[in-house]
Amino acid sequence: MGKYAFVDAALQELRDQGLYNTIRTIESSVGAWVVVDGRRVLNMCSNNYLGFANDERLCTAAHDAINEYGVGPGAVRSIAGTMSLHIELEKKIAAFKGAEAALSVQSGLNTNLATIPLLMGKEDVLFTDELNHASIIDGVRLTKAKRVIFPHRDIAALADLLEENKEIEKKLIITDGVFSMDGDLAPLPEIVEAAERYDAMVMVDDAHGEGVLGSHGRGIVDHFGLHGRVDIECGTMSKAFGVMGGYIAGPAPIVEYLRQRARPFLFSSAATPADVAACIAAIDVLTETDEPVRKLWANGDYFTQKLEELGFDTGESETPITPVMLGEAHLAWDFSKRLFEEGVFATAIAFPTVPKGKARIRVMLSAAHSQEDLDFAVEKFAMVGRQLGVIS
Ligand SMILES: *Cc1c(COP(=O)(O)O)cnc(C)c1O
Repeated sequence: MGKYAFVDAALQELRDQGLYNTIRTIESSVGAWVVVDGRRVLNMCSNNYLGFANDERLCTAAHDAINEYGVGPGAVRSIAGTMSLHIELEKKIAAFKGAEAALSVQSGLNTNLATIPLLMGKEDVLFTDELNHASIIDGVRLTKAKRVIFPHRDIAALADLLEENKEIEKKLIITDGVFSMDGDLAPLPEIVEAAERYDAMVMVDDAHGEGVLGSHGRGIVDHFGLHGRVDIECGTMSKAFGVMGGYIAGPAPIVEYLRQRARPFLFSSAATPADVAACIAAIDVLTETDEPVRKLWANGDYFTQKLEELGFDTGESETPITPVMLGEAHLAWDFSKRLFEEGVFATAIAFPTVPKGKARIRVMLSAAHSQEDLDFAVEKFAMVGRQLGVIS
């Protein structure tokens, strides 16, 4: 019985419950194909929606930034870590999003940790969708505000809860823009209407909408034409943008307050020059052309249609996130393992990430996929689906 016996027990419990995750290691850059365990496999599970993760223009920008600015800022943003690159990125994000101002932080997770506890105190009330991302949940946990969790995308329930809490002066509704496990969208126009009736603020985490929804991938607010009616948009540069970093876009006073007091901004070092320069390049590319966004959607539509023709259940997705619903966790694990043997890397997702009985393979389409790649994947899904009795 050692000091760490409790850890051994916890790990054993994960193994016993079939929840122990064997993490695969990528041995190449992240493109349509990746090298895993020495094998080249078709990548259908990274969030590299636009194929930017190894895009030459972004890589060149990163190299140039290292040559000019070095590899690290050596300080937090508020002391000596703010470089001209960070300011340039913030201006570009604000312009791209059509927001008054923007703040860049190190990651999408940090956007929620920065914003939610700063805006909401113990006298206030927060309304949060039950399926919101873990980083929103953690941001909410850092506040002393009253928490009200509303059923997934349920506007009637949200309206009732707003009514019940209408005496509380400061209210904030927080939702994911695109829900990452099912690919469905928040009913943002209805949320905004309800918020306006009760004078509540709205914050949307657009991590999976960025680069995917709206004109040139400007995100969910642009998609629904809600500019000026959503108070705060936050998001990440780690998915469609293929790099790393988070941003918060919104009214200038809120962004200024974050700059003065947000803890990830004050107490964690600034993003590196290479990352920031690559993010700037990503926005420049997308501002100039929407070609990768259109390719992404065409790939998503094609793949979903082919899988449905084969008899697969692809859920309720409204985006290029394509869940292939399988039900029991062990079937999803087996399916993913068989796909991998056939050269397709697509991970299984099961409880606790999704509800019990709703295990699936979550396929992430990308603009990087060619027609041949998609046909290869469809062929392998068909083959494994028949072998495992999922389709006939
Ligand atoms: C992925 C994700 C994040 C985290 O972004 P990182 O940049 O990887 O930290 C935050 N919110 C949502 C909704 C996400 O899907």
